[in-house]
Amino acid sequence: MLSLCFLLLWSVPANALDIKSLRFGSHPDKVRLVIDMDKIEDFRVFTLSDPHRLVIDLPKFSWNAGAAHPPPEAHISDIRQGQLMPGISRIVFDLTAPSSVQSAFLIPAGKDQSNTRLVIDYKKVTHKAFLEQKGTIHGTLKVDNSSNASRSVPVTQSYATTKNGTPLPPPNALRPTQNNENTVVRKPIIIIDPGHGGIDPGAVGSNNIYEKNVVLSIARELKKQLMATGQYRVFMTRETDTFVKLRDRVKFARDHNGDLFVSLHADSIKKKDVRGSSVYTISKKSSDAQTAALAKKENQADLIAGIDLSIEDEQVAFILGDFLINETMNQSKFLANTLVETMQTRGIRTLQTPHRYAGFAVLKAPEIPSVLVETGFMSNSSEARLLTQREHQRKIATAIHSGINAYFERVALNEQN
Ligand SMILES: [Zn+2]
Repeated sequence: MLSLCFLLLWSVPANALDIKSLRFGSHPDKVRLVIDMDKIEDFRVFTLSDPHRLVIDLPKFSWNAGAAHPPPEAHISDIRQGQLMPGISRIVFDLTAPSSVQSAFLIPAGKDQSNTRLVIDYKKVTHKAFLEQKGTIHGTLKVDNSSNASRSVPVTQSYATTKNGTPLPPPNALRPTQNNENTVVRKPIIIIDPGHGGIDPGAVGSNNIYEKNVVLSIARELKKQLMATGQYRVFMTRETDTFVKLRDRVKFARDHNGDLFVSLHADSIKKKDVRGSSVYTISKKSSDAQTAALAKKENQADLIAGIDLSIEDEQVAFILGDFLINETMNQSKFLANTLVETMQTRGIRTLQTPHRYAGFAVLKAPEIPSVLVETGFMSNSSEARLLTQREHQRKIATAIHSGINAYFERVALNEQN
């Protein structure tokens, strides 16, 4: 009953590749991994370090292999799969040791075998041997590694003078532009960022409830509500169950001239009794150990998706001494406090200290006030159940929506004074 709404999200188009099973064979000189599927023409296999991973890229697939159980000799500690980008799906194996792929090849379906098989032979190697083969890609599948955000708009912003203690208007908001009717309006642009997606499920709650699906549902509801007011323009960093790199989420927000950035998540911790929502802003120093751990976990999304962090561009420059960034941080804190207030008045349970801060990579747009909302705990079974319910998702979206309204009202009021 409770996961009914997710079944829809998990449905896969008929033309997707069908992954039927995963098999492992242990040999003295190698581990043989065989993937059975219905049809395939191309693939891409490679290994990564820090941490060690084996990555397989395939055309978009539907996973029907269930949970795989690799033998200890395969030195695999975890397996994830899901969409990496439109048209491309990925399987990531977390390895407990440096490994090298010896060969990867396809065996087409034949008389005695109805499946096409992708065979990957790999073995544990020394660190030195790993470095020697690093960067080798087996297979010829073309994967466009460039940014998911298509438009690039240079960011040139200037700020009005700060009035003592009063929040400035967000950099882009309230800056008039002309529309077609020649009336001067500029609707604030809200960027909603549903966390995780595709191959990165985020936190996994009981009954296999995925954070990526919960936050996408809340994001869609929030977008719907904000659009219905006619007061905002709204963009989502992802509209579907697909993976988006952290820096591409930030880039998307900047390219779309966002006035506010709201990243949506649902946390998971060991203490199963902890529940309640919380709002986070960026800071070099963490407010507490728990938040530092949370930021570390949320910042690992790219790693979980099998992205080679060593070849990623530097994150957006983040210099705390910068005036622009200090002002954006003030705005972000103001937004966070406003959101906490509206969440509480609208009956959303919050943590005892509901506004916290740490170095979240996704909040690094230097000119856009940004917050990360943890909508609740997937590790708490009753809260996880609530988070899947439409009514509760709507309640959270309504609270965030009225928080955004309140934020802009207060900013406008401060402008007049
Ligand atoms: Zn998350």
